[in-house]
Amino acid sequence: MTSYVVTSAPPNPNGDLHLGHLSGPFLGADILSRHLRQRGHDVRYVGYSDEHSCYVPRRAAEIGSTAYPTAKLFGDRMENTLSLGAMHHDWFTRPLTDTTHTEFVQRFFLELWNAGALKVEELPVFRCEPCDRYLYEAEVRGECQFCADPSDGVYCEACGLAQDPAGLANPKCTSCWQEPGLTTLRRIVFPLDDYRDRLQAYYAEAQSKAEWRPRLISYLEGLFERALPDTPISREADYGIPVPLEGWEGHILDTWFSGIFGYAAATARLSEANGDKAEWERLWTNPDTKIVNFIGFDCSFSHAVLWPALLLAQGTLTLPSQVVINEFYRLEGDKFSTSRGHAIWGGEFLRRVNADALRFHLALTGPEREQNNFSMKEFADTVSTVLAGGIERWTDTVLDLLAQDFQSVVPEAALSVTFLDEDRAELPARIAAALGAETFSPQKAAAELAVIVDRAVDDLRQLSLVRAAGPREEYAARLVAHLELLASVAVTSAPLMPGWSAHLAGQLGVPVDMTTQMPKWAALDARLVPAGTQLPDAAPLFFHELS
Ligand SMILES: [Zn+2]
Ligand SMILES: [Zn+2]
Repeated sequence: MTSYVVTSAPPNPNGDLHLGHLSGPFLGADILSRHLRQRGHDVRYVGYSDEHSCYVPRRAAEIGSTAYPTAKLFGDRMENTLSLGAMHHDWFTRPLTDTTHTEFVQRFFLELWNAGALKVEELPVFRCEPCDRYLYEAEVRGECQFCADPSDGVYCEACGLAQDPAGLANPKCTSCWQEPGLTTLRRIVFPLDDYRDRLQAYYAEAQSKAEWRPRLISYLEGLFERALPDTPISREADYGIPVPLEGWEGHILDTWFSGIFGYAAATARLSEANGDKAEWERLWTNPDTKIVNFIGFDCSFSHAVLWPALLLAQGTLTLPSQVVINEFYRLEGDKFSTSRGHAIWGGEFLRRVNADALRFHLALTGPEREQNNFSMKEFADTVSTVLAGGIERWTDTVLDLLAQDFQSVVPEAALSVTFLDEDRAELPARIAAALGAETFSPQKAAAELAVIVDRAVDDLRQLSLVRAAGPREEYAARLVAHLELLASVAVTSAPLMPGWSAHLAGQLGVPVDMTTQMPKWAALDARLVPAGTQLPDAAPLFFHELS
């Protein structure tokens, strides 16, 4: 058994989560956590709402509110969406009302400061005189100094690179849309390039044990072609976690600095809730603990570069074993956009559609290695061919025949049915390879399941031919082979479709583990639906075709 801490990137509470958000870090982290748990590992899935982010006051100003109610409103909405999608964390911190988060961030900042790992520099900064404020990130919009795409003041969504302080081209204040002036400001800085060699050794080691996705690898290669930038970690601003030093009143710690300690704080809150307050530290200081971060590509710099370097400087906490990135998910061919209203909101959508159907489709089409697209038509097709008209039609037909011909008692099977038995034998290893942390690809797992379902549904015609004209022994064997394959689908599909898996397991008499709410993976080692098992009556339909 291995201990895992799984995290998903902290969402900004400036709106509900849309399908683009759900398709990436949240679904990925949830699927991995479920699969590892099913295999008997010890898993903590944690995260937090990025409530101290400068995007919160910006959003508050847009809706005529203030920061706290804005963070509360959208934080509640996001959590509701995650619950509807069955992908909520084990612990999700709301930092504005959680003192542990602030304590951790300030404590680790002081540790680094006292160890001499940070320095102070006078750096250029944009300043809007009419608005009387400095512009760092959400406060300024312009063009990325590296790729010229539209960007805010720190990380470019398109190329993932950090702008130099006041490096953004053609800057405009996002409040008055005037061009800001330029001045300088005293800021606390982390000298990232000092950790260059140790970071590269860390990547080599981590990537020898797990497959990091290609775009992150090439991003890191590009970044290391030149000196790594000194990274400012403080700002003079009135919203955020204060710098806990005398003489720094009115300065806050950048959320891009805080994040890694936010994950540790969330783990600590979970440990506390589980009745063992000190446990988080044992987990985070044990080099054998596997920490897996799920992020969108645009968070690569913080998760794969800055935070590992901060942990190297800190010296006792364990670095991530893996950073799993995803690309952008598009909607009907165009980028999801909150501001243009081109989005499908998770909360609204999940009230209309089956959560497992959406999870399966997002897994199947998720932007793992390249941008991918969501379309309603393709979603309806997935439901129609793989789910309602696939896996459920298969289940109903098989259980119906068993009821009609064997009074729902599983018969003895003396013969084997080659391809069904082979699929049954190979499915566990194939899904385990796709859902293990080292080569994680829910897309591969969903595609494997779709192929199995397709082949099985195809065989239903053969099954009815044998039933009508073949020897009874052959018919019984074929029916049993279908039942056994269905049961293995009930077990292996649990991380992707937890609701369906439990439903199907119930229909087939496969035990569901009370702790994980999933059938145990180890059950696959033996016959799942033994001869003589009396199966329950037919259940109501689970999936529904989308109009
Ligand atoms: Zn860029
Ligand atoms: Zn302004």
